[in-house]
Amino acid sequence: MKNSRKVRIQKSIEKKSDRVLRLSSRQGAQLLTTIGYQAEGLTSDKKIWKELRGNEQLLREHLGGKGTGLVMMSRMGIPVPPAFNLATSLCNTFLNQQRLPQWVKDRIDISIKGLGQNIGKTFGSMTNPLLVSVRSGARVSMPGMMDTILNLGLNRDITEALSKKNPDQARFWWDCYRRLIHMFATVVLGVEHDIFEEHLDQLKKQQNVTNDIDLSTESLKKLCGLYETTLIELDRNFPSDPMQQLYLAIEAVFRSWNTDRAVHYRRLHSISDDWGTAVTVQAMVFGNWNEKSATGVVFTRNPSTGDKELYGEYLLNAQGEDVVAGIRTPRPIVELKNEIPKSYSRLTKVLQNLESHFCEVQDVEFTIEDDQLFILQTRTAKRTAAAAFEHWYQLTHEKKMTKRDALTRIQFDQVKQLLHPSLKVTTQKPLAIGLPASPGAVSGRIFLDPDSAVAASQSGQAVILVRKETSPEDIMGMAVSQGILTATGGMTSHAAVVARGMGKCCIVGCGEIEFDPKAGTVKIGSQEFAEGAWVTLDGSTGRIFEGNLPTEPVRWSPSAKAIFGWADETSSIQVLANADTEDQALLARDLGAQGIGLCRTEHMFFDKERIHQFRLMILADDESSVQKLSIYQEDDFFKIFTAMKDLSVCVRLLDPPLHEFLPREEQRDELSLLAENLNWPEERLKNRIAQLQETNPMLGHRGCRLGITMPRLYEMQTRALARAMVRFWNTNHRIVLKVMIPLVMNPQELKVLLASLKKAFSDEVEQQFSDLGVLKKILKYVKWGTMIELPRACVVADQLAGMVDFFSFGTNDLTQTTLGLSRDDSARFIPAYIEKGLIKADPFESLDQDGVGQLIKLAVERGRIGNKQLDIGICGEHGGDPESIKFFRGLQFDSVSCSPFRVPMARLALAKAELALQKKEKR
Ligand code: ADP
Ligand code: MG
Ligand code: MG
Repeated sequence: MKNSRKVRIQKSIEKKSDRVLRLSSRQGAQLLTTIGYQAEGLTSDKKIWKELRGNEQLLREHLGGKGTGLVMMSRMGIPVPPAFNLATSLCNTFLNQQRLPQWVKDRIDISIKGLGQNIGKTFGSMTNPLLVSVRSGARVSMPGMMDTILNLGLNRDITEALSKKNPDQARFWWDCYRRLIHMFATVVLGVEHDIFEEHLDQLKKQQNVTNDIDLSTESLKKLCGLYETTLIELDRNFPSDPMQQLYLAIEAVFRSWNTDRAVHYRRLHSISDDWGTAVTVQAMVFGNWNEKSATGVVFTRNPSTGDKELYGEYLLNAQGEDVVAGIRTPRPIVELKNEIPKSYSRLTKVLQNLESHFCEVQDVEFTIEDDQLFILQTRTAKRTAAAAFEHWYQLTHEKKMTKRDALTRIQFDQVKQLLHPSLKVTTQKPLAIGLPASPGAVSGRIFLDPDSAVAASQSGQAVILVRKETSPEDIMGMAVSQGILTATGGMTSHAAVVARGMGKCCIVGCGEIEFDPKAGTVKIGSQEFAEGAWVTLDGSTGRIFEGNLPTEPVRWSPSAKAIFGWADETSSIQVLANADTEDQALLARDLGAQGIGLCRTEHMFFDKERIHQFRLMILADDESSVQKLSIYQEDDFFKIFTAMKDLSVCVRLLDPPLHEFLPREEQRDELSLLAENLNWPEERLKNRIAQLQETNPMLGHRGCRLGITMPRLYEMQTRALARAMVRFWNTNHRIVLKVMIPLVMNPQELKVLLASLKKAFSDEVEQQFSDLGVLKKILKYVKWGTMIELPRACVVADQLAGMVDFFSFGTNDLTQTTLGLSRDDSARFIPAYIEKGLIKADPFESLDQDGVGQLIKLAVERGRIGNKQLDIGICGEHGGDPESIKFFRGLQFDSVSCSPFRVPMARLALAKAELALQKKEKR
């Protein structure tokens, strides 16, 4: 009874799989079935197909990325060899049971027969055998992390029979067979790769040849014999029954989901352990068939710059693994044009097709068999963010995608990557030049193996990992390195692909690198280096320099600038920057800031001479030091106004506790200089300093409390602002100056301060211009406001708002004071809270929307009641966090302000929030 129900369910699953088959094969001759596809909650085949057809994401989840790519290509009429697929869900089934269920095996038997019929061959036949590859492929691409086996379906008897029947093909069949034993043994039977390589190398030496393809049929046959004996000696069983080979290979590919390197890769990229890999069993096509055959890897454009040029490499008369293995040096893709012109031109058309279809740069694996092109894989290329932006920009121009699509596609991580520094122009001669695989300029110490790289990085050193080439085992070392340098490999080598994915600077294929493993040194160009020596890599040009060279901040490409311009058009909320100096202001402006949302004046006092004057002022209320400081500040403000001309600058009056400015006991020289200038005995100075110490400075004598208790201080700053404003006025440029009072807790405080500061400002302007008309005009450009950073201020926001032009939420302090969490100490226990699931994220990084967010909402509502024109912004760290930005958008803020490097992120986040809202409204 139970059993028959089980059978019924299985049958229905199988039937559904057949549906996928028929529908996907409608357009091409390709057969694509899936075993184990489970459509939860979907009862009719029609519904399943409806669900699947337009839903690439769902396809990926079940068929894996590779399987989905094949289905999509087959539907586009692109030639792919026929295949069948085992769905990702079977990976878990297998890993739990450690064997393939019988019904799956039955289904494999049916599918392999069907696959053979499709191309007129038979799996296991002695005369016309179907050979297959068994390929891994998870939902997202994990390059090189899992296993693939080629040429399955051969054994000694079949190989011998075939080569007897077709003597001119004998070399080919023995070549396939030796490849099969080698791959099967390493992947399925866990034998060391090197054992086979050694046999091969010895044989090549004996024959006096350097390339595999120069080995004679006899030697290849001999090699197969050597391989077989080796396996017998190792007591490993290579099954001669093709069906056994197939089952075991499928199991091994499922198992490769859990190799150490695959698990580590998943950790690094936040890929879930229970997604599992799918398996694709695909008819072989042979790049090693003859001289009109080839195999290669190609990017639809330059993955570093996005320039429209094919980028890749191929090998004539070879199979896929040869390109990656680096046994022969692959040739640049353009040369294929002369060698197999028909297939080359076909290839270029297919590539263009794929790129327009997926709207992403594609990384494509292809094989040509006797001048017939097959595509074996397509996926979004690991490319630099700059390349992606360039590509999207071009596609949008060609009307192949909309601006909206482009904005939706951009990932926040890519924005971070755009901000790579570059090398300052240098006259220093490079040690050597390699291929510029991934941009950015970095300096660090040389380390020659991944383990020492990890150790060095743990001890806080900047690491440059230098290797002959990298392999998936090196991944941990690569992850901790600033930059990666390899001696061999091309732009599609493992190092290049992985580094681009990680957004790391990387140079590959630098021929002028020689390793001396005994001495543990490396020679770059003509110079010898030990581990720990400093070098600088310029990933944009491929140059390698000795030493630690200075770098320059980011330059934006015109296409990235344009795309961010589209983001600004989409949203009406301004993005401002937190910038305290002229340099930061210029950087922020270059990164698209529409003004300065927070200029912290305290940073202007940390210069040695200035802090001395500042101390004189706070210790003794010294008039002459106030004058000096006022002149310094005027100069700073003028420079910042100039940098931000025609925009707005919001200056916050002094905020931090006085405590932070006091000299420490060990600063002997400064103490005696202060005592001398004040004409005080040291004892008096010490007492005064002790008086000013605070137990809890963050809740102490800071913010506008300084303005209340030391009126001179804020007045000095305001007068400096007024003079800077007058000076700037005379340049005939304009800025909007916003003067901001921090840490206000009640309307009375604000009232007193505003009255005295507004008066100081006007007085100072009048002293410069006797003409009252000018004063009036200038005052139109001056706005007065307060930070909202205490819960009480939120509650009385209506009363505060009536007195000011703007509010700016200081969400750092507001989080601190609302949650009663110290910003400086909470890092000790927040991670534990996150781990235990008590909070979702660090509230100082992403706004606590249910708590702090509700206070903000209240303050916004009340503030708008108190002042309908009120301008509302935010200037805490949350101003650069996409989730928090969405929240501020919801409350219709006028601006967000964040550090310069996060400005682009904020621009994009606002556009995305806007697009998401529009989409919701449409529904
Ligand atoms: P990976 O995920 O490591 O790239 P693949 O499954 O893509 O593994 O296989 C690696 C290479 O093996 C492919 O690039 C291709 O060259 C070769 N290959 C895989 N399947 C076939 C096939 N059916 N016919 C010919 N070559 C194949
Ligand atoms: Mg591949
Ligand atoms: Mg604050």
